[in-house]
Amino acid sequence: MCPIPIPVNFDEVWFKIEAPPELLPSIEAAARGLLPNVRFGEGKVLRVEVDDTPGRPLYCSVELEGWPAWRVSDDEILSPVYEEFHRTQRVKERVRLGVNVVLRTAYDIPMSPWGILVGVRPTKLVHNLFDQGFSANHVEYILREVYAVSPERVELVMNTAKWQRQFFHASPNQPVGVYIGIPFCPTRCSYCSFASYPIGTHGHLIPKFFEALCWEIEAVGRLFRRLGVAVESIYFGGGTPTTFQGDQLRRLLDLSRRWFLSEVTSEFTVEAGRPETILEDTCRIMAENGVNRVSVNPQTMNDATLRRIRRAHTVDDTIKAVERVRRAGIPILNMDIILGLPGEDISHVEATLKAISELAPDNLTVHSLAVKRASELRKNLESMSIAQEQGEAMAQLSAQAARELGMEPYYLYRQRYILGDLENIGYARPGTASVYNVQMMEERQTIVALGGGGITKLVSPDLSLVRLANPKCPATYAQQLKTTMPAKLWQLEQHLAV
Ligand code: SF4
Repeated sequence: MCPIPIPVNFDEVWFKIEAPPELLPSIEAAARGLLPNVRFGEGKVLRVEVDDTPGRPLYCSVELEGWPAWRVSDDEILSPVYEEFHRTQRVKERVRLGVNVVLRTAYDIPMSPWGILVGVRPTKLVHNLFDQGFSANHVEYILREVYAVSPERVELVMNTAKWQRQFFHASPNQPVGVYIGIPFCPTRCSYCSFASYPIGTHGHLIPKFFEALCWEIEAVGRLFRRLGVAVESIYFGGGTPTTFQGDQLRRLLDLSRRWFLSEVTSEFTVEAGRPETILEDTCRIMAENGVNRVSVNPQTMNDATLRRIRRAHTVDDTIKAVERVRRAGIPILNMDIILGLPGEDISHVEATLKAISELAPDNLTVHSLAVKRASELRKNLESMSIAQEQGEAMAQLSAQAARELGMEPYYLYRQRYILGDLENIGYARPGTASVYNVQMMEERQTIVALGGGGITKLVSPDLSLVRLANPKCPATYAQQLKTTMPAKLWQLEQHLAV
């Protein structure tokens, strides 16, 4: 047994599952989520029994050989608000919860604050239930009793989802959002999992990438104009868009402004990211072109950690970058931090939050460190152990700091193998929330993505989604764009002209 409270156990264990065949996929997935090296076919008996007789309470029992059984009799599912498909779904949810509870007990894995919710977007579930006509009280009950979400997370996800609904439009395609991906960064951070190429090794790819991107902006802009599609938000992300400076940055922002900005556009964000790229001139160019929200992402206000994670900037660079954004008159400043960075404990997080509070940003985005694969989590077990133990306390400290800055949570999402099985939360002062972040996360608006690694999401009125991906590699993007663009434009037109 692992003494460190991490969300999985790497032991190789074998189970012989005795259960109705249609439930095997749910049982195996639930077991694999906690025990990545689990095998099935022989070994300890994992027995699942269900009585799903219509008109009677749903009964479910889960028992692992040698351990006490978990049992539930669910009469809430008899409520007239439910239809037949809800009952089928509830059977799987009860089984997942039972397997989860039994295996966590047997393998000493702490309960997740998110219970058995495994999705990236817990708010989407809440919106979905609201759309089906469930009352807020009923949704809270489902989160608490069916998914075993902790009371704090129930409050968080309910408040966030209720607040977000003001952003939903009658049509997902009018207005739309535009994302522009710049896949270059000054250096590559040790924890990076994004499309990002360091300029030291890949800077020679910039000229062709840049020309291709300008061409794509014009092609999509022309299509929008022809179809009368309005843009609600423009979001430059990456990578680090401010890797481009001077005339290049001016041309990109000017093109975007001319093709996409209108009286409907409420947000023009540049995720400047790396503080060392945010110069006086950079801020002036952004302000002149209508950028009204800039992200300065220190991740930590601790110089030793910054060196450790291979960021090429200092705390002082961050302070100067914030001063420059403010001096340029850009109205909304977001700052990102990460909880659980290598070598950091709660005292470092406390110091970071204090330093950030002094800079008084309008938005604070708090990420919890995630590793890409279970194997990496295993490798980093020792260095992450303190942060894992203190994750919840770090999250609470951040929430408190955000509250003291007058902010409320406005969007959130989760990742696999994230610190303490927590979440990432965007906080904002009233009137400063990023509409792009809400729309992108809740997937209720078409987002057209341009540039390297951009993923376009075409949302239909029934909220079904079609994804179109641009190549991550800047060279491939530049090489293929003129060949692939006609098909992309055709697909955009088919979708947006409806
Ligand atoms: S700044 Fe962001 S995108 Fe760039 S290397 Fe660091 S984590 Fe990756």
